[in-house]
Formats: sequence, structure tokens, C-alpha cells
Amino acid sequence: AARQRTQAIIDPNFRFEDMGVGGLDKEFSSIFRRAFASRIFPPSLVEKLGIPHVKGILLYGPPGTGKTLMARQIGSMLNAQEPKIVNGPEILNKFVGQSEENIRNLFKDAEAEYKEKGEESSLHIIIFDELDAICRQRGGRSDGTGVGDSVVNQLLSKMDGVDQLNNILIIGMTNRLDMIDEALLRPGRLEVHMEISLPDEDGRYQILTIHTARMRDNNIIAEDVDFHELAALTKNYSGAEINGVVKSAASFAFNRHVKVGTLASVTPDVDSMRIQREDFMAALDEVKPSFGVSDDELG
Ligand code: ATP
Repeated sequence: AARQRTQAIIDPNFRFEDMGVGGLDKEFSSIFRRAFASRIFPPSLVEKLGIPHVKGILLYGPPGTGKTLMARQIGSMLNAQEPKIVNGPEILNKFVGQSEENIRNLFKDAEAEYKEKGEESSLHIIIFDELDAICRQRGGRSDGTGVGDSVVNQLLSKMDGVDQLNNILIIGMTNRLDMIDEALLRPGRLEVHMEISLPDEDGRYQILTIHTARMRDNNIIAEDVDFHELAALTKNYSGAEINGVVKSAASFAFNRHVKVGTLASVTPDVDSMRIQREDFMAALDEVKPSFGVSDDELG
């Protein structure tokens, strides 16, 4: 299996874009170089190099920029089990004392498989979304319960225990790097940190083409639509917001064909429906970027 994985990744025609993630090629390659080389190359080479596996990475940056997408794709590229995704606030919402139990449970499957198969075990990925929510309460700073404190401690002790287990990878995600407990970021824990920022113009072009792929295949985009123009006009938009723009444009186009109130009686001429430039312009008016816009830009 290790051999197969290597071939997939050194395929010269391979593009991260084809995995449905736009504008993050550099981030992807950097994470692979820093965190996963040792998981992809033959064990004999890894042994010669003497580099330990990276157990955890942290993806940080504004909301809707593709952190979850990226974490999932990393999992599939590494041939991992379907990742377990847990949400910081969710863990804390459970009863006091139950939170630590929840953390321990997350590691159970991986530990059991390792016991049975050792180094032949598949890779288990645990994704902590909104990791900051757990850390925020460490030391009882915000609500005095200290729940976050013991949850972080439990997580730390689990991560340190992973030492003997090569089959677990933890991916933390946050919009607030400054809130993350430093103890979690040390070597041997979430040691590779990668910022996933808002996409630049090329990235936005890629994201637009990804989210309109099916429409383009079905010839639903009118000829006057210029994705380069739209990429230039969507400064400060996140990937999620660009996706929102595409959906909004589609709804404007649809509305031209089927006006509210006619739904029951008229069979719409969907074959002639095209999403036009004007639909995208209306969509840009409707869906605004929420992040990275300075006060004077908002006017
Ligand atoms: P959050 O911090 O809110 O959890 P996130 O960074 O994890 O956000 P995702 O959940 O990965 O963001 O993105 C939400 C959706 O936005 C994706 O399912 C996808 O449709 C779209 N999207 C975001 N970023 C990208 C991208 N770089 N390429 C393609 N689509 C994207």
C-alpha cells in the first residue's frame, strides 16, 4: 500500500485542484513535505533517516477557507480511515468529567487496531474543529469551571501516549491561533503549523472553476461570463463565500425563468436557462465577504 501511495503523489499530472480544493497547492505541498514524507516513503528509508512520524498538525486561518476540505483530502491521500471529526464546543457541552471520557473514546479504535496489527494498522485521523473552544477555558479563565483545562490535559496525555502508536494523526483547526494553548503546539504534539489564508486571485479563479464545473459541463454558463473578471472582483471572499456567489448567481438565473407564483402552472424552459454575467453581478451584491475587509473599505 505504501508503494501505491507514493506513486499517486509523484504522478506528474497530479493537481490538488482536481481534488476539489482551490488555491492551496503551496500549502498542500508544504504540509506533505513537513509532515507526511515519513508516512509515504518506504519504512526502510524512514528507519535510515531516523525521523519520527509527525503526530499532529494545526491548520489555522479565517473561516470557510478550506481547512476541513484540506484535512479530508490529506486523509484520503494517506489512505486513512474516514476521519473522526469533533467540534471543540461540542466536547465541552457534555457533562463535566464526560469530556475527558469523550477524548479517550476518540482514540479507542486506533489503539485497538494497533494492538492487533501493529505497524500494519491503517492510519486514523482525528480532526478537532474549533480547537480554540477547548483551550479558551483552560485555567477556568472564562467560566471558572476548569472543564477546558482538564480536557486539554487529557488531550495532551493522549497525544504523548501516541508516541508508541504510529497510526494516529491529529489535525487541529482554528480561526484563533492566539487562543491555542502553547503546550499543544510543541514538538511531538501539533507540531506542524500551517496558515490557510483567504485565496489570492489565482486561487479564487480555481475555486470558481471548481464550483462551476458541473454547470460548465452541462453548458449552463453563458458566454459573457468571465471567470478571470469574477476572480478579480471577489477580493477578500473566502472559498465558502465564492461557493455562495455561484449558488446565488444560479438562483438569479433560475428566477428569470421561473418567477415566484408561476411554479405550479408553468413548465420552465430549463434547456435555455443560462447563468449570465448579470446574474453573477447581482450575486456579488447579495453575497459579501465577511472577513479581511478593512473598515475604510466597508465605507
Ligand atoms: P471553518 O473554519 O468555518 O470550519 P473551513 O476553513 O474548515 O471553515 P471548509 O469547511 O473547508 O472551511 O469550507 C466550506 C466550504 O467552502 C467547502 O465545503 C467548499 O465548498 C468551500 N471552499 C472553501 N475553501 C475552498 C477552497 N480552497 N477550494 C474549494 N472550495 C472551497
